[in-house]
Amino acid sequence: MGSITFWLAIPIFILGLAVGSFLNVLVMRSLRGEGFWRGRSHCDHCGRVLAWYEMIPLLSFLVLRGRCRTCKTEIDIMHPVVELITGILFVWWWVIGFAFFKITSTPLLQIIQPAFWLLVGILFLVIFLIDLKSSYIPDWTVAALFWLVLIYRVLLSWVGIYQVKDLAWSLFGASVLMLFFLFLWLITKKRGFGFGDVKLIFPLGLIMGWPKMLIGTWLAFAVGALVGLILILIGQKKWGQTVPFAPFLIIGTTICLLYGDSLLSLYRAWI
Ligand SMILES: [Zn+2]
Repeated sequence: MGSITFWLAIPIFILGLAVGSFLNVLVMRSLRGEGFWRGRSHCDHCGRVLAWYEMIPLLSFLVLRGRCRTCKTEIDIMHPVVELITGILFVWWWVIGFAFFKITSTPLLQIIQPAFWLLVGILFLVIFLIDLKSSYIPDWTVAALFWLVLIYRVLLSWVGIYQVKDLAWSLFGASVLMLFFLFLWLITKKRGFGFGDVKLIFPLGLIMGWPKMLIGTWLAFAVGALVGLILILIGQKKWGQTVPFAPFLIIGTTICLLYGDSLLSLYRAWI
């Protein structure tokens, strides 16, 4: 890592914290059905409008010791956690992710490619959080992911980095996966599985590409089953109780994007 990369990692981390702070507002307002841009940040409990120094990512939470200054109600731990995770996402993207993006010498793509993956990372976080908190995936998040990845893939095919044949296979594979999820949704009588998951798998399949989307989906089920089992064992859940599935789809997709190629060659060496 060069020293410029290193020193710029600090403002990038702070930028990530600020974006994380914004994501908290976005997620909380989306859960309550409020407008995104209206109203100032306030305490969820007593409704007091927050001062600027109560809205500094991470620091405010630490200084206030996780409580509202006036009503002393505990602040949701989600706020500092999301800020920290977003900060880490930004630093990871800057320090490690950028190495992946340098595969192209097309000037326009050198900007579009990193921007695309950062936006995907942010959308992943938003979908993960909203589904975890409310067992619901807003349509706008799936639509945003869908158009983002479709335009990106078509663009890559157009400049010749991605083969049209691969794009066709990915579209076909994502459609088959979606049908499979629709089938699961129907046979579990719409209980084990949300229709949001059926819609979400399409853009996720398209992001992973064919045949890696199979690995990502398998990982989602495997991690989901493991976590479900642990929750039952520690008494947090009972058999038959549902757990939001989108967080596992996001985890499966992320592992697949990071390690899919190694996992695929492992699998091929094994059979
Ligand atoms: Zn309060």
